[in-house]
Amino acid sequence: MTTNAFQIAVMAGDGIGPEVMDACLQVVNAAVEKIGGPGLRFIDAPGGAQYYRDHGTDLPDSSFEIAKNADAILFGAMGLPDVRKTDGTEINPQLDLRFGLELYAGVRPVRVLPGAPTPLKDSRAADIDLVLIRENTEGMFADIRKPRVTDPDQAEDRCLITRAGATRVIEYAFQLAATRVRTRTDACRVTCVDKANVLHSMAFWRQVFEDVHTRHPNIDADYAYVDAMALNLVKHPWDYDVMVMENLFGDILSDLTAGIVGGLGMAPSGDIGDVHGLFQPSHGSAPDIAGKGLANPVAMFLSASMMLNWLGHRHGDSHATEAAALIDNAVARAFARGAVQPVEFGGQHGTAAITKAVLAEI
Ligand code: NAD
Repeated sequence: MTTNAFQIAVMAGDGIGPEVMDACLQVVNAAVEKIGGPGLRFIDAPGGAQYYRDHGTDLPDSSFEIAKNADAILFGAMGLPDVRKTDGTEINPQLDLRFGLELYAGVRPVRVLPGAPTPLKDSRAADIDLVLIRENTEGMFADIRKPRVTDPDQAEDRCLITRAGATRVIEYAFQLAATRVRTRTDACRVTCVDKANVLHSMAFWRQVFEDVHTRHPNIDADYAYVDAMALNLVKHPWDYDVMVMENLFGDILSDLTAGIVGGLGMAPSGDIGDVHGLFQPSHGSAPDIAGKGLANPVAMFLSASMMLNWLGHRHGDSHATEAAALIDNAVARAFARGAVQPVEFGGQHGTAAITKAVLAEI
């Protein structure tokens, strides 16, 4: 058994970001203390919309360097709808981090915790256990940092799929599916989600998917158009295992999958590359509830657990994977025995009460 001391860049951000981050650090500290490791050193890396208001930049170089040099990044949420650049778009340093650190795989596990609500009435909703993988560095977001061409009568965005960019994220999806064989009773499968019936870029994406699949003959593959997938994920999400898709499709469908497992406060994510990993809840800064103590911090807890798992596997650190399991189990037990009823689902528990319930389980 080995244990390490890891440096964690903490980017709390805007709105409910600092609220869920504060709760998360309490839970992470309790878990590593209980397990006896790993050592964690948290380093604040400021940024976000309020920072942009105050300093004229949303991600100072010093924060980017902290993130780059850290072993992992914990991220709350950044952005405020009324803080905009001159071209009308919002600041979004999380996208700069994805591009700058090559965090190409947006990994979003989707599970219904026993005791947590789902809007789906079918009893098979309890079997939902899929992972949505969003390509994070190209697709419809490829050109977002380029200046807009100043034509008052039109605007355009480009969907760029490169063989290298598509291959690495599709390969990631197949490798993940292979590791999930051990946890699932049915055959593992990767679903290619695209719009290959209409868009050239998507027909190319599908070709790359087929090429990558030939390297993984033991894993099933199937295909769905993104519009049909929006329907399927509402009607029978329990039929899916791993799915991989272009950036914007993943952005949209991952909010849908968050909805079927109870809400954005239940949906963790990791933005993972070959070198760096950033872990954040799928939600934004939720300015409508910020400062009221109402945010559900569970997605942030589960994202931190993903971080510990990633660190543990990467560095052969069993304390980190045990701490991750402890957090997952504490959250699951708190829901299962009804100790967590988030305001997000019409319950009476805000951030502090949910944190207390999870800490009690740890
Ligand atoms: P949002 O995710 O912030 O909120 C959508 C809805 O879900 C709101 O009603 C909110 O109250 C609710 N919600 C979200 N998280 C919750 C939680 N943990 N507990 C309870 N309820 C929760 O999305 P939005 O309103 O579209 O965006 C708000 C801001 O966040 C925008 O500036 C946007 O650009 C930014 N944003 C940032 C990220 C990020 O940092 N990764 C992601 C999405 C949006």
